[in-house]
Amino acid sequence: MKAIVNKIIPFSSVDGLGNRTAVFLQGCNINCKYCHNPETRKLCVGCGICVEQCPAGALSFSEDGRVQYDASKCVQCDTCIHVCPNDSSPRTWEMTPEEVYEKVKRQIPFIRGISVSGGECMLWPDFLRELFTLAHKDGLTALIDSNGTIPLWEYPELLEVADGVMLDIKAFDTRDHERITDFPNDTVLANAAYLAEHGKLHEVRCVIVPDLYDVEKSIRDMGKFLSPYLKKNKFRVKIIAYRPMGVREEYSHYRVPDQACLKHLAEILREYGFEDIIII
Ligand code: SF4
Ligand code: SF4
Repeated sequence: MKAIVNKIIPFSSVDGLGNRTAVFLQGCNINCKYCHNPETRKLCVGCGICVEQCPAGALSFSEDGRVQYDASKCVQCDTCIHVCPNDSSPRTWEMTPEEVYEKVKRQIPFIRGISVSGGECMLWPDFLRELFTLAHKDGLTALIDSNGTIPLWEYPELLEVADGVMLDIKAFDTRDHERITDFPNDTVLANAAYLAEHGKLHEVRCVIVPDLYDVEKSIRDMGKFLSPYLKKNKFRVKIIAYRPMGVREEYSHYRVPDQACLKHLAEILREYGFEDIIII
Protein backbone atom coordinates (compact mmCIF):
# COMPACT_ATOMS: atom_id res chain seq x y z
CA MET A 1 0.00 0.00 0.00
CA LYS A 2 1.44 3.36 -1.03
CA ALA A 3 0.48 7.02 -1.07
CA ILE A 4 1.97 9.95 -2.96
CA VAL A 5 3.77 12.14 -0.44
CA ASN A 6 4.32 15.81 -1.24
CA LYS A 7 6.42 16.65 1.79
CA ILE A 8 7.26 15.74 5.36
CA ILE A 9 7.98 18.57 7.80
CA PRO A 10 9.94 17.09 10.73
CA PHE A 11 8.82 19.70 13.26
CA SER A 12 5.63 21.72 13.15
CA SER A 13 3.91 23.61 15.95
CA VAL A 14 0.87 24.67 13.90
CA ASP A 15 -0.53 21.27 12.95
CA GLY A 16 -2.13 20.15 16.19
CA LEU A 17 -1.09 19.95 19.83
CA GLY A 18 2.58 20.33 20.66
CA ASN A 19 5.50 19.69 18.40
CA ARG A 20 4.58 17.27 15.60
CA THR A 21 5.87 15.80 12.38
CA ALA A 22 3.52 16.88 9.57
CA VAL A 23 3.03 14.70 6.51
CA PHE A 24 1.42 16.18 3.39
CA LEU A 25 -0.16 13.79 0.89
CA GLN A 26 -0.73 14.65 -2.76
CA GLY A 27 -4.18 15.09 -4.33
CA CYS A 28 -7.39 16.83 -3.31
CA ASN A 29 -11.07 16.40 -4.15
CA ILE A 30 -12.15 20.05 -3.87
CA ASN A 31 -10.92 23.36 -5.29
CA CYS A 32 -10.55 26.10 -2.69
CA LYS A 33 -10.16 29.42 -4.43
CA TYR A 34 -7.62 30.50 -1.80
CA CYS A 35 -5.69 27.21 -1.67
CA HIS A 36 -2.26 27.95 -0.18
CA ASN A 37 -0.66 24.82 -1.62
CA PRO A 38 -2.24 24.52 -5.08
CA GLU A 39 0.63 22.27 -6.21
CA THR A 40 -0.78 19.54 -3.93
CA ARG A 41 -4.20 19.46 -5.61
CA LYS A 42 -3.66 16.91 -8.37
CA LEU A 43 -1.56 13.92 -9.24
CA CYS A 44 1.08 14.41 -11.93
CA VAL A 45 -0.11 13.41 -15.41
CA GLY A 46 3.41 13.22 -16.82
CA CYS A 47 3.01 15.98 -19.44
CA GLY A 48 6.75 16.75 -19.19
CA ILE A 49 6.47 20.56 -19.19
CA CYS A 50 8.39 20.84 -15.92
CA VAL A 51 11.03 18.35 -17.11
CA GLU A 52 11.83 20.62 -20.07
CA GLN A 53 11.97 23.78 -17.97
CA CYS A 54 13.87 22.65 -14.88
CA PRO A 55 17.11 24.70 -14.99
CA ALA A 56 19.05 22.21 -12.87
CA GLY A 57 18.36 18.93 -14.67
CA ALA A 58 16.69 17.58 -11.53
CA LEU A 59 13.73 16.15 -13.46
CA SER A 60 13.71 13.34 -16.01
CA PHE A 61 11.48 10.56 -17.30
CA SER A 62 11.88 7.04 -15.96
CA GLU A 63 11.62 4.01 -18.24
CA ASP A 64 7.95 3.60 -17.41
CA GLY A 65 7.23 7.20 -18.50
CA ARG A 66 6.89 8.72 -15.05
CA VAL A 67 8.59 11.91 -13.97
CA GLN A 68 11.57 11.31 -11.67
CA TYR A 69 12.89 13.86 -9.23
CA ASP A 70 16.53 14.02 -8.15
CA ALA A 71 16.59 16.04 -4.94
CA SER A 72 20.39 16.21 -4.97
CA LYS A 73 20.31 18.34 -8.15
CA CYS A 74 17.34 20.52 -7.22
CA VAL A 75 18.08 24.20 -6.49
CA GLN A 76 14.59 24.83 -5.04
CA CYS A 77 13.73 27.46 -7.67
CA ASP A 78 10.06 26.32 -7.83
CA THR A 79 9.99 26.69 -11.62
CA CYS A 80 8.36 23.27 -11.86
CA ILE A 81 5.50 24.38 -9.61
CA HIS A 82 4.96 27.62 -11.52
CA VAL A 83 4.93 26.04 -14.98
CA CYS A 84 2.77 23.02 -14.13
CA PRO A 85 -0.62 23.51 -15.84
CA ASN A 86 -2.14 20.80 -13.65
CA ASP A 87 -1.83 22.11 -10.04
CA SER A 88 0.66 19.33 -9.40
CA SER A 89 4.30 18.86 -8.50
CA PRO A 90 7.05 16.56 -9.77
CA ARG A 91 8.70 16.72 -6.33
CA THR A 92 6.69 13.90 -4.79
CA TRP A 93 7.44 10.40 -3.60
CA GLU A 94 5.43 7.20 -3.72
CA MET A 95 5.86 5.78 -0.23
CA THR A 96 4.53 3.01 1.98
CA PRO A 97 3.35 3.82 5.53
CA GLU A 98 6.48 2.04 6.80
CA GLU A 99 8.74 4.26 4.66
CA VAL A 100 7.01 7.41 5.90
CA TYR A 101 7.20 6.19 9.48
CA GLU A 102 10.95 5.59 9.16
CA LYS A 103 11.25 9.35 8.58
CA VAL A 104 8.92 10.15 11.49
CA LYS A 105 10.81 7.90 13.91
CA ARG A 106 13.94 10.05 13.85
CA GLN A 107 12.03 12.81 15.65
CA ILE A 108 10.46 10.61 18.35
CA PRO A 109 12.33 12.16 21.31
CA PHE A 110 11.21 15.63 20.24
CA ILE A 111 7.61 15.24 19.04
CA ARG A 112 4.26 14.49 20.58
CA GLY A 113 2.82 12.94 17.46
CA ILE A 114 2.13 13.12 13.76
CA SER A 115 -0.43 15.04 11.75
CA VAL A 116 -1.37 14.13 8.21
CA SER A 117 -2.64 16.75 5.82
CA GLY A 118 -2.68 17.33 2.08
CA GLY A 119 -4.12 17.88 -0.40
CA GLU A 120 -6.87 15.86 1.21
CA CYS A 121 -5.38 13.03 3.22
CA MET A 122 -8.73 11.18 3.50
CA LEU A 123 -8.23 10.15 -0.14
CA TRP A 124 -5.71 7.67 1.34
CA PRO A 125 -7.63 6.12 4.31
CA ASP A 126 -5.94 2.70 4.31
CA PHE A 127 -2.53 4.34 4.23
CA LEU A 128 -3.50 6.55 7.18
CA ARG A 129 -4.74 3.61 9.21
CA GLU A 130 -1.48 1.76 8.78
CA LEU A 131 0.68 4.82 9.46
CA PHE A 132 -1.29 5.72 12.60
CA THR A 133 -1.08 2.15 13.88
CA LEU A 134 2.71 2.35 13.61
CA ALA A 135 2.75 5.72 15.38
CA HIS A 136 0.58 4.46 18.24
CA LYS A 137 2.93 1.54 18.89
CA ASP A 138 5.60 4.11 19.80
CA GLY A 139 3.23 6.20 21.92
CA LEU A 140 2.79 9.00 19.40
CA THR A 141 -0.60 10.60 18.83
CA ALA A 142 -1.99 10.81 15.30
CA LEU A 143 -4.21 13.55 13.88
CA ILE A 144 -6.05 13.87 10.58
CA ASP A 145 -6.29 17.29 8.90
CA SER A 146 -9.30 17.13 6.56
CA ASN A 147 -11.56 19.32 4.45
CA GLY A 148 -14.43 17.17 5.74
CA THR A 149 -16.05 16.37 2.40
CA ILE A 150 -15.45 12.64 2.73
CA PRO A 151 -17.82 10.91 5.21
CA LEU A 152 -15.54 10.01 8.11
CA TRP A 153 -18.17 7.80 9.74
CA GLU A 154 -17.54 5.31 6.94
CA TYR A 155 -14.02 4.71 8.33
CA PRO A 156 -14.51 3.53 11.93
CA GLU A 157 -11.29 1.49 11.89
CA LEU A 158 -9.31 4.55 10.92
CA LEU A 159 -10.98 6.73 13.55
CA GLU A 160 -10.14 4.10 16.14
CA VAL A 161 -6.42 4.67 15.57
CA ALA A 162 -6.76 8.45 15.04
CA ASP A 163 -6.63 10.64 18.13
CA GLY A 164 -8.65 13.34 16.48
CA VAL A 165 -9.50 15.31 13.38
CA MET A 166 -8.72 18.91 12.54
CA LEU A 167 -11.69 19.79 10.39
CA ASP A 168 -12.08 22.72 8.01
CA ILE A 169 -15.41 24.52 8.00
CA LYS A 170 -14.73 26.90 5.16
CA ALA A 171 -18.22 28.44 5.33
CA PHE A 172 -21.38 27.47 7.15
CA ASP A 173 -23.79 28.19 4.31
CA THR A 174 -23.56 25.42 1.73
CA ARG A 175 -23.89 27.82 -1.24
CA ASP A 176 -20.97 29.86 0.10
CA HIS A 177 -19.00 26.67 0.63
CA GLU A 178 -19.75 25.60 -2.91
CA ARG A 179 -18.66 28.97 -4.30
CA ILE A 180 -15.38 28.76 -2.34
CA THR A 181 -14.58 25.09 -2.98
CA ASP A 182 -16.86 23.82 -5.82
CA PHE A 183 -18.33 21.44 -3.22
CA PRO A 184 -21.36 21.61 -0.87
CA ASN A 185 -20.79 21.29 2.88
CA ASP A 186 -23.54 18.93 4.09
CA THR A 187 -20.96 16.17 4.64
CA VAL A 188 -18.59 18.63 6.37
CA LEU A 189 -21.23 19.57 8.93
CA ALA A 190 -22.33 15.96 9.37
CA ASN A 191 -18.69 15.05 9.99
CA ALA A 192 -18.34 17.82 12.58
CA ALA A 193 -21.38 16.53 14.46
CA TYR A 194 -20.31 12.88 14.18
CA LEU A 195 -16.76 13.55 15.34
CA ALA A 196 -17.89 15.70 18.27
CA GLU A 197 -20.40 13.02 19.32
CA HIS A 198 -17.56 10.50 19.36
CA GLY A 199 -14.98 12.71 21.06
CA LYS A 200 -12.80 12.90 17.95
CA LEU A 201 -13.19 16.53 16.95
CA HIS A 202 -9.82 17.99 17.85
CA GLU A 203 -10.08 21.35 16.12
CA VAL A 204 -12.32 23.29 13.72
CA ARG A 205 -10.54 25.57 11.28
CA CYS A 206 -12.17 28.56 9.63
CA VAL A 207 -10.31 30.57 7.02
CA ILE A 208 -11.70 34.09 7.07
CA VAL A 209 -12.07 35.67 3.62
CA PRO A 210 -14.46 38.64 3.88
CA ASP A 211 -14.55 39.11 0.09
CA LEU A 212 -15.93 35.60 -0.46
CA TYR A 213 -18.74 35.24 2.07
CA ASP A 214 -20.46 36.91 5.04
CA VAL A 215 -17.89 35.89 7.65
CA GLU A 216 -19.81 37.19 10.65
CA LYS A 217 -23.00 35.32 9.73
CA SER A 218 -21.02 32.20 8.96
CA ILE A 219 -19.21 32.19 12.33
CA ARG A 220 -22.43 32.97 14.17
CA ASP A 221 -24.33 30.13 12.47
CA MET A 222 -21.44 27.75 13.03
CA GLY A 223 -21.20 28.70 16.70
CA LYS A 224 -24.91 28.06 17.15
CA PHE A 225 -24.69 24.71 15.37
CA LEU A 226 -21.60 23.42 17.18
CA SER A 227 -22.06 24.82 20.69
CA PRO A 228 -24.33 21.96 21.92
CA TYR A 229 -21.49 19.53 21.19
CA LEU A 230 -19.08 21.30 23.54
CA LYS A 231 -20.64 19.37 26.41
CA LYS A 232 -19.41 16.11 24.92
CA ASN A 233 -16.20 17.16 23.25
CA LYS A 234 -14.16 20.25 24.12
CA PHE A 235 -12.56 21.24 20.86
CA ARG A 236 -10.54 24.21 19.70
CA VAL A 237 -11.62 26.67 17.00
CA LYS A 238 -8.90 28.24 14.92
CA ILE A 239 -9.78 31.50 13.19
CA ILE A 240 -7.32 31.83 10.34
CA ALA A 241 -6.91 35.09 8.43
CA TYR A 242 -6.74 34.67 4.69
CA ARG A 243 -3.29 35.61 3.42
CA PRO A 244 -2.27 35.66 -0.23
CA MET A 245 0.88 33.55 0.31
CA GLY A 246 1.18 30.70 -2.18
CA VAL A 247 -2.28 31.23 -3.69
CA ARG A 248 -2.90 31.14 -7.43
CA GLU A 249 -2.48 34.50 -9.18
CA GLU A 250 -6.17 34.84 -10.09
CA TYR A 251 -7.16 34.51 -6.41
CA SER A 252 -4.46 36.67 -4.85
CA HIS A 253 -6.48 39.90 -4.71
CA TYR A 254 -8.81 39.07 -1.80
CA ARG A 255 -8.71 41.44 1.15
CA VAL A 256 -6.81 40.26 4.24
CA PRO A 257 -9.10 40.60 7.29
CA ASP A 258 -7.84 42.95 10.01
CA GLN A 259 -7.32 42.03 13.67
CA ALA A 260 -10.49 43.85 14.74
CA CYS A 261 -12.56 41.62 12.44
CA LEU A 262 -10.87 38.44 13.71
CA LYS A 263 -11.29 39.45 17.37
CA HIS A 264 -14.95 40.23 16.75
CA LEU A 265 -15.46 36.73 15.30
CA ALA A 266 -13.75 35.20 18.34
CA GLU A 267 -16.03 37.24 20.58
CA ILE A 268 -19.10 35.84 18.80
CA LEU A 269 -17.85 32.31 19.47
CA ARG A 270 -17.25 33.13 23.13
CA GLU A 271 -20.90 34.18 23.38
CA TYR A 272 -21.78 30.62 22.34
CA GLY A 273 -19.58 29.12 25.04
CA PHE A 274 -16.39 28.42 23.10
CA GLU A 275 -13.28 28.93 25.24
CA ASP A 276 -10.42 27.49 23.26
CA ILE A 277 -10.15 29.92 20.36
CA ILE A 278 -6.97 30.77 18.52
CA ILE A 279 -6.55 33.58 16.02
CA ILE A 280 -3.78 33.24 13.47
S1 SF4 B 1 12.48 23.39 -7.89
FE1 SF4 B 1 11.72 22.20 -9.63
S2 SF4 B 1 12.40 23.33 -11.46
FE2 SF4 B 1 13.60 24.12 -9.71
S3 SF4 B 1 15.46 22.86 -9.70
FE3 SF4 B 1 14.02 21.83 -8.32
S4 SF4 B 1 12.97 20.33 -9.62
FE4 SF4 B 1 13.97 21.81 -10.99
S1 SF4 C 1 4.31 17.97 -12.40
FE1 SF4 C 1 2.91 19.09 -13.72
S2 SF4 C 1 4.19 19.91 -15.40
FE2 SF4 C 1 5.37 18.30 -14.37
S3 SF4 C 1 4.95 16.48 -15.57
FE3 SF4 C 1 3.51 16.47 -13.86
S4 SF4 C 1 1.66 17.45 -14.63
FE4 SF4 C 1 3.33 17.95 -16.09
